Amino acid sequence: MAKRGRKADPLKARLAALTTDLMLIPGLSGHETRVRRALAAQLSELGIAHRSDRLGNLIATLEGEAGRPSVMLLAHMDQLGFVVRKIEANGLVRVERLGGVPERALPSQAVLFCVGEGRDRPGVIANKSHHATTPDEKYRVVPYAELYVDAGFASAAEVLAAGIDVGAPVVYQPRATTLANDRLAGTAVDDRAACAVVIEVARALRGSRRKPTIHFVFSVQEEFNLRGALAAAQALSPDIVIQLDLILATDTPDMATRGDVQLGAGPAMSLYSFHGRGTLNGTIPHPALVALFSATAAAEKITLQRSAHVGALTDSSYVQLVGAGVAAIDLGFPARYTHSSLEVCDLADLAELTRLVAGGIARIDGRFSLDRDDYDE
Ligand SMILES: [Zn+2]
Repeated sequence: MAKRGRKADPLKARLAALTTDLMLIPGLSGHETRVRRALAAQLSELGIAHRSDRLGNLIATLEGEAGRPSVMLLAHMDQLGFVVRKIEANGLVRVERLGGVPERALPSQAVLFCVGEGRDRPGVIANKSHHATTPDEKYRVVPYAELYVDAGFASAAEVLAAGIDVGAPVVYQPRATTLANDRLAGTAVDDRAACAVVIEVARALRGSRRKPTIHFVFSVQEEFNLRGALAAAQALSPDIVIQLDLILATDTPDMATRGDVQLGAGPAMSLYSFHGRGTLNGTIPHPALVALFSATAAAEKITLQRSAHVGALTDSSYVQLVGAGVAAIDLGFPARYTHSSLEVCDLADLAELTRLVAGGIARIDGRFSLDRDDYDE
């Protein structure tokens, strides 16, 4: 599909600016406050009231027409990273991993110790000097437990004096850069790009009276345990959860056998996800929602890509089990190099995802059935 309105598209421009802003704000799982404040300010600017719960989930509700199933639109605010595990006497710092950190891509990464706004300290994950690397070390992935972070300190006392203690959050040094063809590379594209999309969906739907009740939820601790959103879902009891996150792009040589999801070819929906590495959970979407978004994409002339694979899951897996069950679907934007320090997405996909989600939610009317017997399989 041709890319629509490149450059002139104000939605794309807003998504570029907000995604970039959000990627530059550190927010390790369990330490999302700075990201939450930024998103709360966005909601306030739109005139939408918001609140947060005890875990730190940010929630905003737009009341809609009675009789329509209620919707929870979900994206996670947190990002993966590390916490300080041990401070060596010589000032080097050992870290524990938090979330799905790719160990083979860690040495020589820049990181940020999150001490507090204006007090954060940069560091470098050490990579053994190449001149001293032996042949058998050359192709070995160094386990994170053997790695250390050099932040320039010469003693443990200096580390502590900088406000860095055991348990301190550490993230990849936040970065964002625009590539050719309106592609965006940055830290925590997962899931700040989707947070920006949720804000734009809220902007699109806030003035409309003909809509279901929508709870916009920016969740915490997704990269940690996938369950932060549970607290919000239990409090809100939605009928439907629409979860937005990346969908693996498979159009690079290393991903070719995994599917046909192309970066820049439009948003995607997951038809099957399963973690498959110890976590017995995933999401098989409710057929009503597959039908809804397929019809919306066709009507709005949006190319909707399809994804099905083992290896990832989102917090919709847990949200769908709340109460008597919540009809769930994972929608997203294609992304490359996931969980690396620089992930890549395409702004056109974010804009089309915004249109798909806003259009789909607006179609949820009083006759919208969540009865599985109404759908053929
Ligand atoms: Zn994510």
